[in-house]
Amino acid sequence: MNDWVYLDNNATTAVAAEVREAMLPFLGERYGNPSSMHSFGGMIGRELKRARDHVAALIGADPQEIIFTSCGTEGDNTAIMGSLWAQPTKRRVVTTRVEHPAVRTLCRRLSKDGYDVYELHVDRDGMLNLDEVRESITDDTAVVSVMHANNETGVVFPIAEIAAICRDRGVRFHTDAVQSVGKLPIDVHALGVDLLTLSGHKLHAPKGIGALYVKRGLHLQPLIIGGHQEHGRRGGTENVPSIVGLGTACELALQNLDEENKRVRGLRDRLESELLRRAPNSLVNGHPENRLPNTCNISFEYVEGEAILLLLSQAHIAASSGSACTSGSLEPSHVLRAMGVPYTAAHGSVRFSFSVYNKDEDVDRVIESLPPIIHRLRELSPFGPDKDNSWAFEASCHTHSH
Ligand code: PLP
Repeated sequence: MNDWVYLDNNATTAVAAEVREAMLPFLGERYGNPSSMHSFGGMIGRELKRARDHVAALIGADPQEIIFTSCGTEGDNTAIMGSLWAQPTKRRVVTTRVEHPAVRTLCRRLSKDGYDVYELHVDRDGMLNLDEVRESITDDTAVVSVMHANNETGVVFPIAEIAAICRDRGVRFHTDAVQSVGKLPIDVHALGVDLLTLSGHKLHAPKGIGALYVKRGLHLQPLIIGGHQEHGRRGGTENVPSIVGLGTACELALQNLDEENKRVRGLRDRLESELLRRAPNSLVNGHPENRLPNTCNISFEYVEGEAILLLLSQAHIAASSGSACTSGSLEPSHVLRAMGVPYTAAHGSVRFSFSVYNKDEDVDRVIESLPPIIHRLRELSPFGPDKDNSWAFEASCHTHSH
């Protein structure tokens, strides 16, 4: 695996060696149940507490405000469903057109079930309009759910401003911070959010573990109903090894935040400027400044993103087109469509996402390998900027999409 250049860290990250080490005893001799009366289990409870402290510290929360979940999707579902169930007279949910399916698909289902779902628009840079946020909130609104950073473009939304609007209107506010936790400094009090979702596998913990921050005093119905675990807020015997791993990953993330911000941003910026320079008819998707330091989403016009990914994969370079969940379909990304990126560009979009483990050599490999791939695909393609038939490319994209 060592010759792979892995630039798909928004899809998932490598488990850190320190995280793996911390987890191992809990996959071996330390297998007790933290709910047991005996101290063989009780000792495990202390490890859960330590992990909870680390998760809380990374986002400036109180440890009691952290609920461990099975993943980011569960955190998002709990925040939204738990808020609706806690306020049964309120039927409106406000969200955006660019959320991850963990929020978007749930909201579409809610809409089918008769809830009143409003999806905020984004502009060409992927940014929201705060006036639209203000206007969309009614007395019937149970929860506003807006992601912190977009998984496809890295665009960062003004969460503190949106939270202030919600607070003024007495409406609770949830943010899906799955992509920003560990990449940006986060303080739930400074942001002013009521609920915040995070997921372990985006910050070098294993897959299948996450956490939900629930502001002290906020009434939330559980999604997973069962035993008294997590103070009755989430039933099910705790996934101890993964919780311990998440705690260690959060501890490391706090130490690495500065590096993630500076060194990783430098790598991303070099990749971006070199690709724009070496591959004509390419453009960056997403706001130039308000973006995660690790994410680069580039459209190469008149070529298919999937073809680029395949050829990159043959060169042992891992990247993604849109989110991992939507790739594999020819439907262009809902995020790029919501931003109004033309079909000719949306189809040829590739996302590169870095982690602290990426190096200068990784950028060198991509800037050597990718421009010839684009050149080759453009030569093969019947469409192109100088072929005077861009309308046909667009028409063919529309046909694919239905
Ligand atoms: N929210 C965002 C923004 C994501 O990027 C993801 C994962 O890609 C999720 C939620 C879902 O997290 P999980 O894979 O832990 O369920």
